[in-house]
Amino acid sequence: MDKYKKQRARMLERQIRARGVSDERVLKVMEEIPRHFFVDEALLDQAYNDNPLPIGERQTISQPYIVALMTEALELTGSEKVLEIGTGSGYQTAVLSRLADRVISVERISSLAEKARKILERLKCFNVLIAVSDGSFGWKDEAPYDAIIVTAGAPDIPRTYIEQLARGGRLVIPVGGAHEQKLVRVVRGTLPDDLEYEDLGGCRFVNLIGEYGWKG
Ligand code: SAM
Repeated sequence: MDKYKKQRARMLERQIRARGVSDERVLKVMEEIPRHFFVDEALLDQAYNDNPLPIGERQTISQPYIVALMTEALELTGSEKVLEIGTGSGYQTAVLSRLADRVISVERISSLAEKARKILERLKCFNVLIAVSDGSFGWKDEAPYDAIIVTAGAPDIPRTYIEQLARGGRLVIPVGGAHEQKLVRVVRGTLPDDLEYEDLGGCRFVNLIGEYGWKG
């Protein structure tokens, strides 16, 4: 077993299963995807640690447990069209790409988007479109989405995401202050105004900067 494979297995057991994530599809994919591809060379030995890591441009790759928790909350079965806001390193995008039919990921910083694109190509994640734009507007072109995941914290839930969520769809988003947020899951029912909110616990994300987020 190579060194990283061992580290991934340990990450799964100690950080993810141990904290209650049980969706076998999510666990399998996270056991397979080489997270170390998505971190800078100087941080390779920390790639499977239980914390976020810097990826440049003052942004981060999220903690593995948070990636697992948010992905599980989307309840993906393989047939979905997913919108991700905040591509960052592209790691979460790779996880989504193996669990859904199509992924649209929006990143506001073009250098990060470009780097992520290259790694996703190397991993043959051909069902992903990465767009450079203010993702607080969502991505109208391909709406509605069966699932929307926002990996940057917003002061409130942008209405654009609710508008672009399909009936029966799931939205997961960190909402709250600039330094601490609550992870919120919104499930859209079959009637137009039928929205169910669930608190998935505390978290710390970098800010969603844009028209419907924080003002940069
Ligand atoms: N999921 C990513 C990963 O696995 O590496 C981590 C994402 S990082 C915590 C948050 C990302 O959201 C940053 O790359 C940041 O540039 C991006 N972001 C912030 N505001 C945004 C916006 N309005 N539209 C698109 N991306 C945004």
